[in-house]
Amino acid sequence: MTDAFAALPSAVRGTFDTVRARDPHEPEFQQAVHEVLSAIVPVLERHPAFVEGGIVERIVEPERQIVFRVPWVDDSGRLRVNRGFRVQFSSVLGPYKGGLRFHPTVNLSIVKFLGFEQIFKNALTGQGIGGAKGGSDFDPHGKSDAEVMRFCQSFMSELYRHLGEHTDVPAGDIGVGAREIGFLFGQYRKITNRHESGMFTGKGVQWGGAEVRTEATGYGAVFFVENMLAVHGESLDGRRVAVSGSGNVATYAIDKVRQLGGIPVTASDSSGYIVDDAGIDVDLLREVKEVQRARISEYVTRRRSARFVEGARPWAVPVDIALPSATQNELDEQDAAALIASGVRAVAEGANMPSTPAAVAAFRDAGVLFGPGKAANAGGVATSALEMSQNASRQRWSFADSEDKLRSIMGDVHDAAFRAAERYGHPGDYVVGANAAGFERVAHAMLAQGVI
Ligand code: GLU
Repeated sequence: MTDAFAALPSAVRGTFDTVRARDPHEPEFQQAVHEVLSAIVPVLERHPAFVEGGIVERIVEPERQIVFRVPWVDDSGRLRVNRGFRVQFSSVLGPYKGGLRFHPTVNLSIVKFLGFEQIFKNALTGQGIGGAKGGSDFDPHGKSDAEVMRFCQSFMSELYRHLGEHTDVPAGDIGVGAREIGFLFGQYRKITNRHESGMFTGKGVQWGGAEVRTEATGYGAVFFVENMLAVHGESLDGRRVAVSGSGNVATYAIDKVRQLGGIPVTASDSSGYIVDDAGIDVDLLREVKEVQRARISEYVTRRRSARFVEGARPWAVPVDIALPSATQNELDEQDAAALIASGVRAVAEGANMPSTPAAVAAFRDAGVLFGPGKAANAGGVATSALEMSQNASRQRWSFADSEDKLRSIMGDVHDAAFRAAERYGHPGDYVVGANAAGFERVAHAMLAQGVI
């Protein structure tokens, strides 16, 4: 799935070679490192102190990696063993922060790529949070609530010793939603005898969670698109939008596109995608995916304007805007070519690293406005930081207030990326801009805090 890596300038080539030699079996991690290293060369040229201070060599190595056994007993009484991970990548800007992913594909390469991205994404939000990621190869699909609970309790029985509101603050990601977060938080509370609200984000709003956290990643990605279009005097109004995925990010991206006058025409899951030219009905999508936990084809049985395409991804559908919001490497060079041929104007990554390097290169060459995940999907973790603020001050902000704050943070994230791209001689290139702006913040803090 991973494209061949393009040659890197000499300033960063050595570091990349070291990463490949040290972690030869981690293609996703190598891909994430390659993207950052290729984008930050102009930053290193302008800041020799970053080179002298060994910032690049240090940042590609996690501060700490935790890999652990997660034994649990299924409903039939059989013992199961999964593998748990937490990669604490950087705490230079704040406590480690990043989600947990439960999915059968999770391995150290996936967790490290996500944790590495998270450093720069979190820096871009300007919210004082470090970068981390974790998870397990456990698959919640098809498990009973009791099985999910026992797994979460076993997972937290090990991980709790590495967490804390000033140490490491997890949240959700693929396969970790409200149910899992409840079980994980409950076990932490029992073991530590502390109701420590700030040690987890994405909590239920009844017990310390923040308004808009559920919607934040999807809403934020659409706000990011709004900002990219506004630079050119354009808007979402009347524009057709392809969204992939049908989880949290996709569902609320679809919701916000509709609210802003666009027409979201697709959604997908691992079985295929749906096209609904009348615009996806968010309530029906949520009913199918969240309540029934059914396959997405169920949607078309209840909606005349929709059809289901089995075993494919939605990128052949002609649209003005694409929001890949499912998972890594879900949009390749051919998909990019199809989107470009149909005249796509903007692409923003709701998921983490959904576009392959060749797809990103194709969009940039074709002049498509391209918002990379570490900028476009930063709204989720930014709202997690708002949740931490509310927990620390024992306040509760309203939905409208929280959404206003999210919208303004996404405007700031956009502007930081946009301005950095101009500053470093790549106007309009949000890949360079987002990586450069995030990296600059991390690098200055690392220099100030010494060799640690
Ligand atoms: N998993 C989300 C992300 O990829 C959110 C992390 C968080 O809120 O800590 O950014």
